[in-house]
Amino acid sequence: MDKSVYNFCAGPAMLPVDVMAQAQREFVNFAGLGVSVMELSHRGKEYMALAAEAEKDLRELMQVPDNYKVLFMHGGGRGQFAAVPMNLLGGANQKADYLLSGNWSKAALTEAKKYGDIQAVEGVIRGDDGSFSLVAAPQFRADAAYVHYCPNETIEGVEMFDLPQTGGIPLVADMSSTILSRPMDVSQFGILYAGAQKNIGPSGLSVVLVRDDLLGHARPDTPGIFDYQVTADNDSMFNTPPTYSWYLAGLVFKWLKAQGGLEAMEARNVAKASFLYDYIDASDFYSNKVAKNCRSRMNVPFQLKDAALDAAFLAESKDAGLLALKGHRIVGGMRASLYNAMPLEGVKALVAFMERFAKQHA
Ligand code: PMP
Repeated sequence: MDKSVYNFCAGPAMLPVDVMAQAQREFVNFAGLGVSVMELSHRGKEYMALAAEAEKDLRELMQVPDNYKVLFMHGGGRGQFAAVPMNLLGGANQKADYLLSGNWSKAALTEAKKYGDIQAVEGVIRGDDGSFSLVAAPQFRADAAYVHYCPNETIEGVEMFDLPQTGGIPLVADMSSTILSRPMDVSQFGILYAGAQKNIGPSGLSVVLVRDDLLGHARPDTPGIFDYQVTADNDSMFNTPPTYSWYLAGLVFKWLKAQGGLEAMEARNVAKASFLYDYIDASDFYSNKVAKNCRSRMNVPFQLKDAALDAAFLAESKDAGLLALKGHRIVGGMRASLYNAMPLEGVKALVAFMERFAKQHA
C-alpha cells in the first residue's frame, strides 16, 4: 500500500494501513472458508464469533461497565440524532436540553425537536473574528430527561475535554469524531454514540453504548431497528446488521489494542495535534482561532493569511500526496483531520509542505 499518501479527510477517514492490508488479504477467503466475510450469514457461528469478539475488544478498550449495552446499529451519526430522542422521550417527560457547540450539535438539536420539548443551551461563543471559546458553566433544566452534547465538533475543530455538569441528568454524547482517541469514563454517560467513519471503520455503522436503565423508554412508534431495547434483546441482530463494517470495526479494535490501547492513542494524538498547532501558532502565514483550551486533537482547521491562495494550496498539497485538506464551507480555509490512523509522519509531511508553501508565497 502507498504510504506516501496521507488522507486528511474528516470522514470517511483514513483507516490504519495494517487493517486495510489485513482486510485485503482476507477479502475473498475469510478464515479459510473460501468466501468473504461479506458473504457470511450473520447467524452462522463464524460471524457470530467475530461479532462477539469485536464487542469484547471494544468493552476492553473503553472499559465499558457491565451495566452498559454495546449496540452496533445502522444509520451513522445522524441515525442516532433521531434514535436518542425516540428512545428517551417515550414517557411523560419529553424535555431534553442540547448544548450547542457547533454544526453537529445543532443538527442533533434540529432532529430532536421533532420528538419533544427541546431547549438549546449555548456552549460555545463564536466571535466576529472567527474565534471560538467555551461558555464557562452552561446551565440545564433540572427536569430535563437528558442533556445532549457533542464533545468534538468536527467542522469547527472545537473539542471539550471536561464534561458538562448536569447535576445527575443523563448525559448523551455524540462522540462520532473523538471516540477512541482518548480514554473516557463511560460511567459518566447515559449514552455515548458514534458514527463509525472516523475512528472506527466504514460509514453507515453506528456504535452505541447505553446504560441499562435508559432502555425501555422508547416512543411506541420507534422503528424496531432504531429501538435500543429491541437491538439489545437481539444482540444487534434484529435485522441483518452491517456485517462487513462490523468486521472492519473489529479489526480496528484489535489494532488499537496492539498499539497499547487508548492511553497510548491519546499520547500519540496529543503529539500529533501539538506538532501542527505549534507550527501554526508560530507562523504568521497560517492561523487557527479556536481558544487553546478547546482545540480539537482530531480536526485542525486553519486559515491561510490570504484566502486567494486556498486553491493553490489545495492543488499543490494534493500533488504532494496530502489529500482532502479543504475546510468545511462553514469555517472556510483548510482542515486537517488527525484521527487515530494518521501517523505522526503524516503530520510532519503536512507541516513540511505548509512551510514550503508559506515561503513560496510570503
Ligand atoms: N456527528 C458528528 C460529530 C459528525 O462529525 C458527523 C459526520 N461528519 C455526524 C454526526 C453525522 O454522521 P453521519 O454522516 O454518519 O450521519
